[in-house]
Amino acid sequence: MPLARGREFLSIPGPTNVPETVLQAMHRPAVDIYADDLLDTTRQCLQDLKPVFRTAGSTYIYIANGHGAWEAVLTNTLSRGDRVLVLESGRFARGWGDQGEMLGLAVEVLPGGWRRAVDPAAVTARLRADPEGTIKAVLVVQIDTASGVVNDIPAIRAAIDAAGHPALLMVDGIASIGCMPFEMDLWGVDVAVTCSQKGLMMTPGLSFVAATDRARAAHRTAGLRTAYWDWTARDMPENYRKFCGTAPEHMLFGLRTALGLLFEEGLERAWARHAALARAVQAAVAVWSEGGALDFNIVAPAERSAAVTTILTPGFDPERLRSFTRENCGVVLGSGIGDLTGQAFRIAHMGYANAPMVLGTLGAAEVALRALGLPHGEGGVQAAVAALAGHFAPEG
Ligand SMILES: *Cc1c(COP(=O)(O)O)cnc(C)c1O
Repeated sequence: MPLARGREFLSIPGPTNVPETVLQAMHRPAVDIYADDLLDTTRQCLQDLKPVFRTAGSTYIYIANGHGAWEAVLTNTLSRGDRVLVLESGRFARGWGDQGEMLGLAVEVLPGGWRRAVDPAAVTARLRADPEGTIKAVLVVQIDTASGVVNDIPAIRAAIDAAGHPALLMVDGIASIGCMPFEMDLWGVDVAVTCSQKGLMMTPGLSFVAATDRARAAHRTAGLRTAYWDWTARDMPENYRKFCGTAPEHMLFGLRTALGLLFEEGLERAWARHAALARAVQAAVAVWSEGGALDFNIVAPAERSAAVTTILTPGFDPERLRSFTRENCGVVLGSGIGDLTGQAFRIAHMGYANAPMVLGTLGAAEVALRALGLPHGEGGVQAAVAALAGHFAPEG
């Protein structure tokens, strides 16, 4: 007999759980697009995104998912035929590069494995082989949501600088911003993107771009610009220009509330919360993997992300586990995607997530492992509890 009645719990890496107050902020009638409330909300959201990206640069809000923000960045800064270097570490940077190819960019992939982070030394070596600076941009993901890896963005910046290369550094922070440190200006990131439904605790449908002066200088001569994505139009004072049409009113009201929650907690504390929850998940997975049927996808512990953990299941079909937790426990785990389809499952610890949510998810997964008789080390949840206790009472 299933034990799923109750609130279904989403533990997938996007969309993530949306706080009630955010949903309530959206539950209201539409307003005049010239109403002060809407103009203030837009201004405030654009302004509040700056400390989220940690930039003094310009911010843009698109009525689009993350794929839209990818396209916004490429069309605003590049021209047909420009060369870009994609740093592979899973699925998402490749996907961004594929979009560039359709736009007419010359896309080169710096190959990387699905089980480790981008190697900064390989970036330097590749850029040194381009003394004329024909590569206009380097595209990288901070956290790859498919592989579960975290890339070292400051190290990649240093790798570009070590080659003395002028390429723009473009970072996809969709699964990382709000979940771990991201310092756009301090790290020398030229363009960054994120979106609403991962670390920022909002519904899917909005994405955000931040651009420094360097990126905006490239924008002036970019040949791929199109009316909808164009920064120049969106920089104009009229509110409707900022969205190339009607503002996504309800989503802006929701976003303002979500960002308010984030600031109320404090960005640094949100990062620390994600790190602690990630340690709990990792502690459980480390114990389970002693049984040999499952293992971390990311080999090096330091390269495992604070937002999502990808778990390989060489000993069983991960869909058995996922359907068990969904149907019997009301917990929806993430599936393996891309190269890991059918070979992995994912646990999200991203956005609006706290200790019982993570313990509940781990508990349901451990129930499934036991009930299905899948070989696993016993005591994963216990290890997660110990990790959380350690967070509150560090030894020494
Ligand atoms: C979710 C995600 C995307 C894609 O975002 P969509 O909103 O689904 O278009 C891109 N990059 C990363 C790292 C993501 O996690």
